[in-house]
Amino acid sequence: MHTHLSRDTTTEKLIFPKPDVPDEQRWANLDHVIAFMDAHDISHIATMNVMATRAMLESRLRRAREAGRSEAAIAEARVLLREDMRHRMCEMNDWSLGAQAREPRIRAYIALDPTLFEDASIEEVDRCIVLGATGIKIHPQVNEHFPDHPALRAVYERCEETGVAVLACTGLRPNADGTVYLDPRGWVPVLRAFPRLRLVMSHFCDAAWRERMELAREFPQLMFDISGGLVDATNPENHRSALPFEDGARVFREVGTERLMWGSDTQFDPMTSVAQVLRLPLTDGEHEQILSTNALAFFGAREGSSR
Ligand SMILES: [Zn+2]
Repeated sequence: MHTHLSRDTTTEKLIFPKPDVPDEQRWANLDHVIAFMDAHDISHIATMNVMATRAMLESRLRRAREAGRSEAAIAEARVLLREDMRHRMCEMNDWSLGAQAREPRIRAYIALDPTLFEDASIEEVDRCIVLGATGIKIHPQVNEHFPDHPALRAVYERCEETGVAVLACTGLRPNADGTVYLDPRGWVPVLRAFPRLRLVMSHFCDAAWRERMELAREFPQLMFDISGGLVDATNPENHRSALPFEDGARVFREVGTERLMWGSDTQFDPMTSVAQVLRLPLTDGEHEQILSTNALAFFGAREGSSR
């Protein structure tokens, strides 16, 4: 659960520069991911589409302002750029769903920016469901909105009807203006209004792990990915990891090991964090839940199968 695939190595290097990683060790792209999965006994992955529409749009408008464009010209450019961004997001969704159609071991979660699509958000979701979408990635920080954005109401309704899942980035990091769009508690109104929504909160082990634990108690339908991992000698504390390894087994059991899915977020060598899960003092069955069976059940997939 929770990777970010690029079209090819060149695109991957733009998105994840990591200069110390040689090209042949880059697997987060369509050209290399299947060989990587085969080599590491990974039957399925879910890849998340994210597009920094807000940052792209604002940086272009800033350049227009610096070039001395009039306010009227900038307002006009904003309309055109928003149209262009919607188009790009649709294209990204098409590309990833095409990859999923060719390779069913890849599950593509579409990107959806409700501040861009507004009331047409549901149309983009319906269009993608026809193309095979089984999940939507919601990134409140990158797209600068709260989880209960009005345009998402129809989307969550559709998700409840169809079983399409939502993976949300959550956390406590504020945006540049100080707003915390990521706060996991921002999902409470959504979880109350849509109790059948198959929602996965990412980065369980980050600084908001206590908040997520509380939400897990209140909302039994809520699932989590543990991309980022626990803090130990192999993984120093960072913005994805704050829960100490020593507390991992107790906290995971309190949440319910049937509700946690291993994920990498494409940020590190995934096998290091698999080894970390295996070192947790849990039963073999619990390890298997976190590393395999929970996600297979969530994807509706079977082990060793290509579907
Ligand atoms: Zn991610």
